[in-house]
Amino acid sequence: MTPFPAGPTAAPTRSSRRPALVAAATAALLTAVTSGLAVTAAPSMAAACTGYVALTFDDGPTPGNTTTLINTLRAAGVRATFFNVGQNAQSNPALVRAQRDAGMWIGNHSWTHPHMTQLSQAQMASEISQTQQAIQQATGTAPKLFRPPYLESNATLRAVEAQFGLTEINADVDSQDWNNASTDQIVQNASRLQAGGSILMHDWPANTIAAIPRIVSDLANRGLCAGMISPATGRAVAPDGATPPPSTPPPSTTPPPTTAPPTTPPPSTTPPPTTAPPTTPPPSTTPPPTTAPPTTPPPSTPPPDPSGVCTATYRLVSSWTGGFQGEVTVSSTAAISGWTVRMTLASGQSISNVWNGVATGAGGPVSVRNAAYNGSLSAGGSTSFGFLANGSSSPAPSGIACSGA
Ligand SMILES: [Zn+2]
Repeated sequence: MTPFPAGPTAAPTRSSRRPALVAAATAALLTAVTSGLAVTAAPSMAAACTGYVALTFDDGPTPGNTTTLINTLRAAGVRATFFNVGQNAQSNPALVRAQRDAGMWIGNHSWTHPHMTQLSQAQMASEISQTQQAIQQATGTAPKLFRPPYLESNATLRAVEAQFGLTEINADVDSQDWNNASTDQIVQNASRLQAGGSILMHDWPANTIAAIPRIVSDLANRGLCAGMISPATGRAVAPDGATPPPSTPPPSTTPPPTTAPPTTPPPSTTPPPTTAPPTTPPPSTTPPPTTAPPTTPPPSTPPPDPSGVCTATYRLVSSWTGGFQGEVTVSSTAAISGWTVRMTLASGQSISNVWNGVATGAGGPVSVRNAAYNGSLSAGGSTSFGFLANGSSSPAPSGIACSGA
């Protein structure tokens, strides 16, 4: 089944770029470096890496596909980047964790796989925010990479990506696996990969699974190894992120991701996400409290009152004309099973979207309590929630305080 078949607009042609790419690759091979061999490389590939490429798989995770894909990649001794669809991640958190546990990198591929450039800015933010949240819930880490569905982007979308600290990743080579390419064709397309580049593949095609061992073998013959995508540059680097690509980046039709504050206003009327909260809670680092009755009398001294043991710290993440993104970190000095943060927004400020917490009120005095999955904190533990707000970022919310439960 093809949950998100891409249309014929999925990838622009890049034939005009081939000569430059070949030239760059030739230069790369002549100036090869040999450091940074991937520790996961299979013995048959234990040769010098003259450069790194990124294998990327979009649209998962999906039951029946993702596990096979992970196993195929592991058998080939390579790590890859999975651009997950948020809805799929929320429905299959165990598969997201399996990706992480297999050493794969995880990126954001929107919540519903829409044509992002046809959405309002508020809808774009919702697509990205919910996916960040779902993946963070599953793995504890929010993605730093975003690949727009159908590789369609524009300045408005890039401004929203920047609000979430995301680097936009296009693709240097389209495997055409979404377009029913044969295994031979997928392998042939992958042969165009050059150091620093990435190839677009998908979570579900059987022909892709069949192509992977041949792709990896071809790359090894050319001195190329599978690596990660650097959030700083958007280019493939060594799996440890430490080794820069050995060649100058090939030309790209994608402008580099902007890290400057967006100049366009963020969603001014963003409704909170309408999606139901996840039904599958992520793993908690705190064991659930035992409900067994005590067999010995309770201690004569009552346990310490957990209220007052937590602190909340506000941080401005980014701001732009008419809005800002904030983050509040909640830390506790004792084990608590829930928390509530109270703060007062300045005149003209109103919260439009909250993640990793549940807000009561939007302007003036606001309280945010933990979400279902991040209320339990161990002694010394911490978590955070984020929000988008309308209005000027200054002054910061005042009177911020945390109470535990
Ligand atoms: Zn896709």
